[in-house]
Amino acid sequence: MQYLMGDFKISERMMRFSLFVPRLYNLCRSYGFEKGMIMPSRAFCSDENQGFPIILITKHFGAFPFNHGMVGGIVATDRHGAYAHHGKDLVIIQASHVGYEPETGQFGAYRRLQVDDKRQDASCGKILGVMDWYLKEYAFAKENISFSIIDGKAVVLIDNQLLDHNREAGIFLNIHQFVAMDSGNIPEPFKVFSTSKAFRINPELKNRLPKSLWQEGKRVPVGKKLTANLFYFKKRVSEALEGRDQLERNLSHSMPRIVTSTFPGLLAAQVNTQVEFDRAYRTIVSEDSYKGKNLAFIAGINIDISPQQGQLFPITKFVPWAAYVQTRDGEAFLLEQKELLEALLSQSTDNPDRIEMSRAIQAMEDTPEVKIEFESQ
Ligand SMILES: [Zn+2]
Repeated sequence: MQYLMGDFKISERMMRFSLFVPRLYNLCRSYGFEKGMIMPSRAFCSDENQGFPIILITKHFGAFPFNHGMVGGIVATDRHGAYAHHGKDLVIIQASHVGYEPETGQFGAYRRLQVDDKRQDASCGKILGVMDWYLKEYAFAKENISFSIIDGKAVVLIDNQLLDHNREAGIFLNIHQFVAMDSGNIPEPFKVFSTSKAFRINPELKNRLPKSLWQEGKRVPVGKKLTANLFYFKKRVSEALEGRDQLERNLSHSMPRIVTSTFPGLLAAQVNTQVEFDRAYRTIVSEDSYKGKNLAFIAGINIDISPQQGQLFPITKFVPWAAYVQTRDGEAFLLEQKELLEALLSQSTDNPDRIEMSRAIQAMEDTPEVKIEFESQ
């Protein structure tokens, strides 16, 4: 799964959601999708800060989107059949999300206006909740692997818990990278302490690390030098399809990369979007009820920028990742991130078919009452 993060670029490929949606609408129209016959659908997290994108989709597509999403930005693929009956032409938008706090430049934080102290909170809370256990395991390992010089020899000191391979769950070291092995086997410890053991350091690792980590009579923790290639996680996760642990399953193989990255919440959202696009794409192309229909499936990340004083909604930015498009004439193709971005940018941000929400709501309010009859005919 290492290749997953490969070509996903974030910084130069994002656009405001308010510009993304009209471009997507116009792009779908350019493929022959019919005005007034498009049913949009979204697979977003249940968080309230995903509401503004949904309002924008409603405005530009002229219909409230079908709900294809589960918490964490998982696509409910068992809803394909029902969804297919709701529109002639279909547009599914999947997005994982991550908060962003402009004052601190931090991803994963979001200011909630409806709580007493307007405090910053985790966003996406579900993704950060899943990552919590992995981040704690990683933090323990960063503190409990250390380097020292004992009797003139460079050693690595490893906590006994990290050396216990009979654990059912936890962070596990790629031990051969740390320890100078003895013809392929872990050698006897150089020294045994009450809660840890010291081993002669693998010279390759020693050469890669700064000399300052080795000090006579002092233990220097590995800290951030504990990079993703040096460990892995083991944890029992439910295999149920789109069950409670689907998000964790999506992220689990990439967790060493996620916990060691500068912005774990952002990288987790990215990985989830990549896995969900691939996973949902396969269910879409094999779905009978989609056959012969115009359909676009697009996946990306929503970056929720905390609302500032006086703002009602977040300024959401969308980072497109990939799209699958099929038309009634039997054309079907994938758009990779760069092609998708170019296709979107080539479209106008002006959408003459958009609805004015307040006018549409007013029109409904002005409509004469419809009496609901309970009398049998
Ligand atoms: Zn969320």
